[in-house]
Amino acid sequence: MVQSILDFFRNLPDKYCVECGEKIEEQFDCYSNTCCKCLHVKSHDEG
Ligand SMILES: [Zn+2]
Repeated sequence: MVQSILDFFRNLPDKYCVECGEKIEEQFDCYSNTCCKCLHVKSHDEG
């Protein structure tokens, strides 16, 4: 049921960036422990 899936995500604890400690937006956090900003910084660093 779609409702259950929505409830599941709503019950997830807030996620925080491992780099800067910023709270990661729900829409973004699925696969990463790093916020948008740090992802950009990181790709710069490693590139
Ligand atoms: Zn960050």
